[in-house]
Amino acid sequence: MTTIAANLQRIHDRIANACQLSGRSPDSVSLLAASKTFGADAVVQAHAAGQMAFGENYIQEAVDKISILAHLHLEWHCIGPIQSNKTRLVAEHFDWVHTVDRVKIAQRLSEQRPAHLAPLQVCIQVNVDGGAAKSGVAPCDALNLAKAVAALPRLRLRGLMCIPEPAPDFVAGCAVFSGARALFDTLNKEGFGLDTLSMGMSNDLEAAIASGSTLVRVGSAIFGVRF
Ligand SMILES: *Cc1c(COP(=O)(O)O)cnc(C)c1O
Repeated sequence: MTTIAANLQRIHDRIANACQLSGRSPDSVSLLAASKTFGADAVVQAHAAGQMAFGENYIQEAVDKISILAHLHLEWHCIGPIQSNKTRLVAEHFDWVHTVDRVKIAQRLSEQRPAHLAPLQVCIQVNVDGGAAKSGVAPCDALNLAKAVAALPRLRLRGLMCIPEPAPDFVAGCAVFSGARALFDTLNKEGFGLDTLSMGMSNDLEAAIASGSTLVRVGSAIFGVRF
């Protein structure tokens, strides 16, 4: 077994364990492998171990990997900040975007999504723990952004995503993630039909799953330390 395959097995065990502790089914949480800065060879190893969904932050790096690995039919998720001048590449190459936090970016993604591809699957990034300099829409503005995204023809709104600051412990982590979960529930009461709550990384996936995460984004615990 390669190191990457063994690491993936450990993450699946952690997910299953966290689900069991909160009385959830282990298949209610999916794993996105955050492969930023790692080469196509690492993605190939993870794919050989059964991993199909990969998250990338740097658009040009991602586009290169996506074209090299097109024959594997992987699912690619954009999890990095998107500037206006990068929306076309994202719309043309990715299956999912987790980091929509402005109407303008959403509009460009919808306009630029090629007609022959399925709608782009979108999560709205929410700034759950404040901080003016952080990406993500403020929770109080999330409903309006969700309405705008849901109205765009080439986007499909699937859920919310957040990247809170590392919490000192499990309980503190749960407190922050629960805020995202509450917003997710509020939007669903408004009728959005969201099915994806993208939260939890290598160090806090247990707290995220206890708080209702449906998708964890794990990088270093699969691929190793990023340089
Ligand atoms: C890098 C990254 C991850 C994975 O982080 P790890 O701590 O390495 O698991 C998850 N989400 C986003 C948005 C990232 O940029």
